[in-house]
Amino acid sequence: MQNHTVLISGASIGGPALAYWLTEYGFDVTVVERAPGLRPGGQAVDVRGPALVVAERMGVLDELRELATDMRGMSVVDAAGVELYRSTEGTISGGDFATADVEILRDDLCQVLSRGAAGRVAHLFDDSIAALTQDEHGVQVTFEKAAARTFDLVVGADGLHSNTRRLAFGPEADYITHLGTYLSVFTAPNYLDLDRWQVWHQAAGAGGAIMTARGNAEIRVFAGFETPEPVAYDFRDIEAQKKLVHDRMADVGWEFPRALRYMWDAPDFHFDSMSQIHLDQWWRGRVALVGDAGYCGSPMSGQGTSMALVGAYVLAGELKAAQGDHRIAFPAYQDALRDYVAENQRLALTNQARMAAETGTAEGEPGVGADLQDVGQAVNGLELKEY
Ligand SMILES: Cc1cc2nc3c(=O)[nH]c(=O)nc-3n(C[C@H](O)[C@H](O)[C@H](O)COP(=O)(O)OP(=O)(O)OC[C@H]3O[C@@H](n4cnc5c(N)ncnc54)[C@H](O)[C@@H]3O)c2cc1C
Repeated sequence: MQNHTVLISGASIGGPALAYWLTEYGFDVTVVERAPGLRPGGQAVDVRGPALVVAERMGVLDELRELATDMRGMSVVDAAGVELYRSTEGTISGGDFATADVEILRDDLCQVLSRGAAGRVAHLFDDSIAALTQDEHGVQVTFEKAAARTFDLVVGADGLHSNTRRLAFGPEADYITHLGTYLSVFTAPNYLDLDRWQVWHQAAGAGGAIMTARGNAEIRVFAGFETPEPVAYDFRDIEAQKKLVHDRMADVGWEFPRALRYMWDAPDFHFDSMSQIHLDQWWRGRVALVGDAGYCGSPMSGQGTSMALVGAYVLAGELKAAQGDHRIAFPAYQDALRDYVAENQRLALTNQARMAAETGTAEGEPGVGADLQDVGQAVNGLELKEY
């Protein structure tokens, strides 16, 4: 086998899944993660269609089902909390309950995936790639903290603002499309006593949801605002991001003024733009991208997590099939997933338009829509090879 050593940047969803499959196939894997450990937080994410097959082949599907959010349903309310719409057939974030899809907290999924390759992967937490150069023999990697090393291959699984992509492919601005919305998610106590329930409220240009998590022990507050132009902010300055959310949500009614008070001391906080990443080619020489780093669909697609899981499985599988030859495996990986990714990225735009219509954001009045939980229905037409 050629190209035995692989460095993966990022340990959220795509990174741990890729590490699992590569170590299954005998590769020597190191994972570098900027955070000091596996990151907590995030809202519920969805494992759908072919990603369920990947989870089954990893032997974790039953565990994911046990950890699933297990919602009873959802409501849409107006600024005074009056219920305008209710469903016990599905939720906006999780889709229709009648499907086999699994909705799970992002951090729970990250933990399960990471356990799969525990003991077989070397981790460099609290570190990041500072520079990489490549030639026909390998990729010379300089880290911010660890000693420099050469790897045969490097894979960026480091998300929408991928550091690997910036270093190997060029500036983010060349690849990112802003969809006009920013989202924040944080944990708070279940002070509303919601029972496995999701409540949505939308005002003009801002709004979001509150949903229970971990049984009814806590809630995840999901606050977003629209802005046609990207907002300049420091990715590392959490307090400034919280202030931005606070200021932009100032006129949103229902429970948001109270819920946002929990934001300042929340144990976790995730903030990002709704954006997509489009690259003509998901690899450059010995460096490839997986998940959001290479083809982010945005939370509007409801498919980011599934694309990362499927991408990791196919990338590792093609490397196995090509005996580690990246010149064969990387193009085969993109060929296998090109249509699946393109359709799911398009779905995000359809969902965005539909949600705006259903929640009446254009008029600033929450609407009532029987199709609301259809938002997020996935494009799943992909036959997964066995490697
Ligand atoms: C904390 C968090 C909360 C999230 N919350 C939501 C949510 O509520 N709703 C939703 O739809 N999606 C959310 N996402 C995104 C979602 O997880 C992804 O869209 C999807 O699962 C694809 O995963 P990924 O592994 O490709 O990327 P991501 O999940 O974005 O993971 C990227 C990983 O790379 C790490 N990283 C970033 N920069 C570097 C660097 N320089 N060096 C090393 N590591 C680096 C990050 O810390 C992270 O662990 C969240 C992501 C994170 C990290």
